[in-house]
Amino acid sequence: MSDEARPEKRFHGVGVSPGIARGSLVVYRTEEEAPQARHIEESEIPSEIGRFETALIATRSQILEMQQKIAEAIGAKDAGIFDAHLLVVEDRTLIDEVLRTLSRDKHNVEYVFQQVANRYSKTLSEIDDPYLRERALDIHDVARRVVHNLMGKSIKTLAGIHHKHILVSHNLTPSDTAQLNRSLVLGFATDVGSKTSHTAIMARSLNIPAVVGLHDASEALVTGDQVLLDGYNGFLIVNPSDQTLWEYGELEVKMGAVEEKLTQLRETASTTLDGRHITLSANIELPEDVEAVKKSGAEGIGLYRTEFCYLNRTEFPGEEEQFDNYHRVAKAILPESVIIRTLDLGGDKFTGVMEAEIESNPFLGWRAIRFCLEKVDVFKIQLRAILRASALGNVRLMYPMISGVEEMRRANAILEECRQELRAEGVFFDEKMEVGAMIEVPSAAISADLIAREAAFFSLGTNDLIQYTIAIDRVNERIAHLYEPTHPAIIRLIKTTVDAGHAHGRWVGLCGEIAGEVILTPLLIGLGVDELSTGAALVPRVKRAVQSLDMNVCRRLVEEVLQCDSSDVILAKCEEVAKSHYPDLLG
Ligand code: PEP
Ligand code: MG
Repeated sequence: MSDEARPEKRFHGVGVSPGIARGSLVVYRTEEEAPQARHIEESEIPSEIGRFETALIATRSQILEMQQKIAEAIGAKDAGIFDAHLLVVEDRTLIDEVLRTLSRDKHNVEYVFQQVANRYSKTLSEIDDPYLRERALDIHDVARRVVHNLMGKSIKTLAGIHHKHILVSHNLTPSDTAQLNRSLVLGFATDVGSKTSHTAIMARSLNIPAVVGLHDASEALVTGDQVLLDGYNGFLIVNPSDQTLWEYGELEVKMGAVEEKLTQLRETASTTLDGRHITLSANIELPEDVEAVKKSGAEGIGLYRTEFCYLNRTEFPGEEEQFDNYHRVAKAILPESVIIRTLDLGGDKFTGVMEAEIESNPFLGWRAIRFCLEKVDVFKIQLRAILRASALGNVRLMYPMISGVEEMRRANAILEECRQELRAEGVFFDEKMEVGAMIEVPSAAISADLIAREAAFFSLGTNDLIQYTIAIDRVNERIAHLYEPTHPAIIRLIKTTVDAGHAHGRWVGLCGEIAGEVILTPLLIGLGVDELSTGAALVPRVKRAVQSLDMNVCRRLVEEVLQCDSSDVILAKCEEVAKSHYPDLLG
């Protein structure tokens, strides 16, 4: 692979999904390519105007088509937002300004249109009026479409890449990641992103090496470059030297031997040295992930992120399609159970349908259960599908982003309506299906004693709990160093939740990414967590950690850290315990 004429170059970021991949690079540029100015002759003006008219007509019919699809899927009210987009393509002032500038400046029409649209949207966005600011966004969206139509491009997707490759992009959204073809993408790297972004989570589920936080590497890279991606240490190495290839060959052999040893644990129980059983489950995003869960030796699925089936769509899947997904998963995992989490859209996960909702703080916005409690029709379709699947497997249900007991009651009331409907229709479901709450908002952790009255179990979503407690955007690499799972406030909130759950006879799981971090296993089980659910690939490592620990040691660790005021000191104490019990799993 190495090319003597081109020296090796290394880019360093954060390894978020372990493994090593080698291959040829595809640089995926999601940002818009701005149209370049090109001088035109007077005689070309009529044909430029003709192209402009054709592009406006095409844009109009694309908007109408989208509007119709959305009206069919979720109702005319939501489709109404596209009326504003239609007004933009029909805006006489804008169109006349384009025609005037075209004749005066004699530049190609895409360039002229982009300049005029930018000017309009900038002027509107600077006016202190929320309505006009919204219009600025409409102009931006529509202009993007018109320019694409003028330049003869369709909006790029990842689905068009047909050979094995390592993907590099400035950013990959969860929707992009959900489109990745597992058999073709050997690994991926992005300039931005963090360990708990859904893109990173998805990479771990897909079991493909991934590195994020490479700053501006994607600018410097070219499709076709030969690269090596090191998901353990966070390197992307362009044109690796023979020496580097040899060293990585050695590392692969070493890591392969560790993995091989861990797979032998598959049939063993995740029980501490003194006999405390910790349920070890795995998280999935798509039904296809179940195979990896079964191979990992996990005791079921602790979190099924159902919203991944909704990404990259412009309409919500119907009850039959959802039932089919859920019951396939529930059956495949038998005799173990699956915890199906209801829709957690919003935050960094948007569907074609939700894309229309522009919010300045999406993680604090119309997300998860808030969306479902408003879109009751969409919610009920999912609840009915889950209930029906419960007749055919061992199914539990949980709601994401519960912030207090009232939300839990409202969600449960809608669930009860669905039960009654199904009973009336003579459709079977599990009358005893457990219904739990994710505890991932600080207010929920603090009022866990109240929520416990309405929930059969808790699952701590620490990815969000940390983000909301310390006020650290979980996908912003710039502040990723401040995202501290061992912050004293986080430990207190986990303890409050576990204690409240246990006091009410509820079991308490944890399905955030820290469930897979073996340095923290002594702390988490010492705090009394009953279940840990993590990416399938990490399950054997956590099992080894659990099997090497003693609850007395873990409880002592918790007593000590509850007296500490520093995240670093707490982390060091956890590491000390982990190192003394399973040094081979660290480092
Ligand atoms: C969490 O927040 O910890 C969690 C498991 O949910 P998600 O990562 O999907 O937000
Ligand atoms: Mg969450």
